[in-house]
Amino acid sequence: MTNSGTLYIVSAPSGAGKTSLLKAMITDTDGVRISVSHTTRQQRAGEVDGQDYHFVAVAEFQQMISDGAFLEYAQVFDNYYGTSRQSVQQQLDEGIDVILEIDWQGARQIRQLMPKARSIFILPPSREALAERLQGRGQDDQSVIERRMAAAKEEMSHFNEYDYLLINDDFDVAKQELAAIFIAERQMMASQTQRHEQLINNLLA
Ligand code: 5GP
Repeated sequence: MTNSGTLYIVSAPSGAGKTSLLKAMITDTDGVRISVSHTTRQQRAGEVDGQDYHFVAVAEFQQMISDGAFLEYAQVFDNYYGTSRQSVQQQLDEGIDVILEIDWQGARQIRQLMPKARSIFILPPSREALAERLQGRGQDDQSVIERRMAAAKEEMSHFNEYDYLLINDDFDVAKQELAAIFIAERQMMASQTQRHEQLINNLLA
Protein backbone atom coordinates (compact mmCIF):
# COMPACT_ATOMS: atom_id res chain seq x y z
CA MET A 1 0.00 0.00 0.00
CA THR A 2 1.24 3.51 -0.74
CA ASN A 3 1.40 6.12 1.95
CA SER A 4 -1.84 8.00 2.13
CA GLY A 5 -1.85 11.60 3.27
CA THR A 6 -3.58 12.92 6.37
CA LEU A 7 -6.73 14.99 6.11
CA TYR A 8 -6.83 18.18 8.20
CA ILE A 9 -9.77 20.39 8.99
CA VAL A 10 -9.04 24.01 9.86
CA SER A 11 -11.84 26.27 11.07
CA ALA A 12 -11.94 29.78 12.48
CA PRO A 13 -14.30 32.75 12.52
CA SER A 14 -13.67 35.13 9.63
CA GLY A 15 -11.24 37.73 10.91
CA ALA A 16 -9.04 35.25 12.80
CA GLY A 17 -6.40 35.28 10.06
CA LYS A 18 -6.87 31.64 9.09
CA THR A 19 -6.22 31.99 5.35
CA SER A 20 -3.05 34.10 5.75
CA LEU A 21 -1.70 31.71 8.38
CA LEU A 22 -2.36 28.63 6.26
CA LYS A 23 -0.87 30.18 3.12
CA ALA A 24 2.29 31.18 5.01
CA MET A 25 2.57 27.78 6.69
CA ILE A 26 2.30 25.72 3.50
CA THR A 27 5.04 27.66 1.73
CA ASP A 28 7.44 26.46 4.46
CA THR A 29 6.09 22.91 4.82
CA ASP A 30 6.46 20.21 2.16
CA GLY A 31 3.80 17.72 1.15
CA VAL A 32 0.73 19.65 2.23
CA ARG A 33 -1.91 21.41 0.12
CA ILE A 34 -5.02 23.42 0.79
CA SER A 35 -8.12 22.02 -0.89
CA VAL A 36 -9.88 24.45 -3.26
CA SER A 37 -13.60 24.52 -2.40
CA HIS A 38 -16.54 25.20 -4.66
CA THR A 39 -18.72 28.16 -3.75
CA THR A 40 -21.74 30.05 -5.04
CA ARG A 41 -20.62 33.33 -3.48
CA GLN A 42 -19.46 36.31 -5.52
CA GLN A 43 -15.78 36.39 -6.41
CA ARG A 44 -14.01 39.13 -4.41
CA ALA A 45 -11.46 41.51 -5.89
CA GLY A 46 -8.08 39.80 -6.00
CA GLU A 47 -9.49 36.27 -5.85
CA VAL A 48 -8.57 33.85 -8.63
CA ASP A 49 -11.09 31.29 -9.92
CA GLY A 50 -9.68 27.78 -9.52
CA GLN A 51 -7.09 28.97 -7.01
CA ASP A 52 -9.00 30.58 -4.11
CA TYR A 53 -12.28 28.86 -4.94
CA HIS A 54 -14.07 27.28 -7.88
CA PHE A 55 -16.80 29.88 -8.34
CA VAL A 56 -19.98 28.22 -9.62
CA ALA A 57 -23.67 29.08 -10.13
CA VAL A 58 -26.28 27.78 -7.67
CA ALA A 59 -27.69 25.37 -10.30
CA GLU A 60 -24.25 23.84 -10.89
CA PHE A 61 -23.68 23.49 -7.15
CA GLN A 62 -27.05 21.77 -6.73
CA GLN A 63 -26.24 19.41 -9.58
CA MET A 64 -22.96 18.52 -7.86
CA ILE A 65 -24.90 17.78 -4.65
CA SER A 66 -27.21 15.41 -6.57
CA ASP A 67 -24.21 13.75 -8.21
CA GLY A 68 -22.65 13.09 -4.79
CA ALA A 69 -19.61 15.12 -5.85
CA PHE A 70 -19.11 16.67 -2.40
CA LEU A 71 -17.35 15.11 0.55
CA GLU A 72 -19.16 17.76 2.60
CA TYR A 73 -21.04 20.96 1.90
CA ALA A 74 -22.80 23.64 3.89
CA GLN A 75 -24.58 26.93 3.65
CA VAL A 76 -22.51 29.70 5.24
CA PHE A 77 -23.97 33.23 5.33
CA ASP A 78 -26.20 33.10 2.22
CA ASN A 79 -23.95 30.98 0.05
CA TYR A 80 -23.11 27.34 -0.52
CA TYR A 81 -19.61 25.99 0.03
CA GLY A 82 -18.43 22.44 -0.64
CA THR A 83 -15.39 20.19 -0.84
CA SER A 84 -14.85 18.07 -3.96
CA ARG A 85 -14.67 14.39 -3.05
CA GLN A 86 -12.57 13.40 -6.06
CA SER A 87 -9.87 16.02 -5.75
CA VAL A 88 -9.33 15.39 -2.03
CA GLN A 89 -9.24 11.62 -2.44
CA GLN A 90 -6.77 11.84 -5.30
CA GLN A 91 -4.34 14.00 -3.31
CA LEU A 92 -4.60 11.80 -0.21
CA ASP A 93 -3.92 8.74 -2.39
CA GLU A 94 -0.79 10.46 -3.68
CA GLY A 95 0.43 10.77 -0.09
CA ILE A 96 -0.22 14.49 0.13
CA ASP A 97 -1.63 15.97 3.34
CA VAL A 98 -4.76 17.95 2.52
CA ILE A 99 -6.17 20.89 4.47
CA LEU A 100 -9.88 21.64 4.34
CA GLU A 101 -10.53 25.25 5.27
CA ILE A 102 -14.19 24.78 6.19
CA ASP A 103 -16.75 25.82 8.77
CA TRP A 104 -17.95 23.84 11.82
CA GLN A 105 -20.87 22.28 9.91
CA GLY A 106 -18.52 20.84 7.29
CA ALA A 107 -16.12 19.75 10.02
CA ARG A 108 -18.86 17.67 11.65
CA GLN A 109 -19.62 15.93 8.35
CA ILE A 110 -15.95 15.12 7.76
CA ARG A 111 -15.50 13.71 11.29
CA GLN A 112 -18.39 11.33 10.66
CA LEU A 113 -16.99 10.21 7.31
CA MET A 114 -13.29 10.17 8.13
CA PRO A 115 -12.71 9.78 11.85
CA LYS A 116 -8.94 9.88 11.38
CA ALA A 117 -9.02 13.47 10.13
CA ARG A 118 -7.26 15.90 12.50
CA SER A 119 -8.96 19.18 13.26
CA ILE A 120 -7.62 22.56 14.28
CA PHE A 121 -9.52 25.64 15.47
CA ILE A 122 -7.99 29.11 15.31
CA LEU A 123 -9.17 31.91 17.61
CA PRO A 124 -8.33 35.62 17.44
CA PRO A 125 -6.40 37.05 20.44
CA SER A 126 -9.28 39.26 21.66
CA ARG A 127 -12.79 40.43 20.91
CA GLU A 128 -11.39 43.86 20.03
CA ALA A 129 -8.90 42.42 17.53
CA LEU A 130 -11.69 40.39 15.93
CA ALA A 131 -14.00 43.43 15.66
CA GLU A 132 -11.19 45.49 14.19
CA ARG A 133 -10.41 42.85 11.56
CA LEU A 134 -14.07 42.47 10.63
CA GLN A 135 -14.41 46.24 10.22
CA GLY A 136 -11.11 46.47 8.42
CA ARG A 137 -12.60 44.94 5.31
CA GLY A 138 -13.82 48.34 4.21
CA GLN A 139 -17.02 49.53 2.67
CA ASP A 140 -19.69 47.73 4.77
CA ASP A 141 -22.23 49.41 7.03
CA GLN A 142 -22.77 48.77 10.75
CA SER A 143 -25.55 46.17 10.34
CA VAL A 144 -23.33 44.08 8.05
CA ILE A 145 -20.49 44.24 10.59
CA GLU A 146 -22.84 43.27 13.42
CA ARG A 147 -24.07 40.32 11.39
CA ARG A 148 -20.47 39.21 10.79
CA MET A 149 -19.69 39.51 14.50
CA ALA A 150 -22.73 37.33 15.33
CA ALA A 151 -21.62 34.76 12.73
CA ALA A 152 -18.09 34.79 14.17
CA LYS A 153 -19.50 34.13 17.66
CA GLU A 154 -21.56 31.25 16.31
CA GLU A 155 -18.51 29.72 14.62
CA MET A 156 -16.34 30.21 17.75
CA SER A 157 -18.93 28.49 19.96
CA HIS A 158 -17.83 25.20 18.32
CA PHE A 159 -14.11 25.52 19.15
CA ASN A 160 -14.08 22.60 21.59
CA GLU A 161 -15.18 20.07 18.97
CA TYR A 162 -11.63 20.21 17.51
CA ASP A 163 -8.39 18.34 18.33
CA TYR A 164 -6.15 21.41 18.44
CA LEU A 165 -6.67 25.03 19.46
CA LEU A 166 -4.45 27.89 18.28
CA ILE A 167 -4.60 31.56 19.23
CA ASN A 168 -3.45 33.83 16.41
CA ASP A 169 -1.88 36.61 18.49
CA ASP A 170 1.68 36.83 17.11
CA PHE A 171 1.50 35.73 13.46
CA ASP A 172 4.95 34.05 13.34
CA VAL A 173 4.36 32.16 16.59
CA ALA A 174 0.96 30.93 15.40
CA LYS A 175 2.50 29.88 12.08
CA GLN A 176 5.15 27.83 13.88
CA GLU A 177 2.56 26.25 16.16
CA LEU A 178 0.49 25.31 13.14
CA ALA A 179 3.48 23.79 11.31
CA ALA A 180 4.37 21.85 14.47
CA ILE A 181 1.04 20.03 14.33
CA PHE A 182 1.70 18.84 10.77
CA ILE A 183 5.29 17.86 11.46
CA ALA A 184 4.47 15.97 14.68
CA GLU A 185 1.56 14.14 13.07
CA ARG A 186 3.87 12.73 10.40
CA GLN A 187 6.15 11.22 13.04
CA MET A 188 3.35 9.11 14.51
CA MET A 189 4.35 5.44 14.75
CA ALA A 190 1.84 4.11 12.21
CA SER A 191 2.87 6.61 9.51
CA GLN A 192 6.57 6.24 10.12
CA THR A 193 6.46 2.45 10.13
CA GLN A 194 4.76 2.52 6.74
CA ARG A 195 7.05 5.20 5.32
CA HIS A 196 10.28 3.56 6.53
CA GLU A 197 9.32 -0.09 6.16
CA GLN A 198 12.50 -0.95 4.27
CA LEU A 199 14.81 0.77 6.73
CA ILE A 200 13.15 -0.89 9.71
CA ASN A 201 13.28 -4.35 8.08
CA ASN A 202 16.92 -3.75 7.26
CA LEU A 203 17.85 -2.59 10.76
CA LEU A 204 16.11 -5.53 12.40
CA ALA A 205 17.34 -8.18 9.95
P1 5GP B 1 -15.35 33.20 2.76
O1 5GP B 1 -16.56 33.44 1.94
O2 5GP B 1 -15.04 34.34 3.68
O3 5GP B 1 -14.17 32.80 1.93
O4 5GP B 1 -15.65 31.93 3.69
C1 5GP B 1 -16.76 31.95 4.55
C2 5GP B 1 -16.78 30.69 5.38
O5 5GP B 1 -17.01 29.55 4.57
C3 5GP B 1 -15.49 30.41 6.16
O6 5GP B 1 -15.84 30.09 7.50
C4 5GP B 1 -14.94 29.19 5.49
O7 5GP B 1 -14.23 28.37 6.38
C5 5GP B 1 -16.18 28.48 5.00
N1 5GP B 1 -15.89 27.57 3.89
C6 5GP B 1 -15.09 27.79 2.83
N2 5GP B 1 -15.06 26.70 2.02
C7 5GP B 1 -15.86 25.77 2.59
C8 5GP B 1 -16.25 24.43 2.23
O8 5GP B 1 -15.84 23.86 1.22
N3 5GP B 1 -17.12 23.82 3.07
C9 5GP B 1 -17.60 24.40 4.20
N4 5GP B 1 -18.42 23.68 4.96
N5 5GP B 1 -17.26 25.65 4.57
C10 5GP B 1 -16.41 26.33 3.77
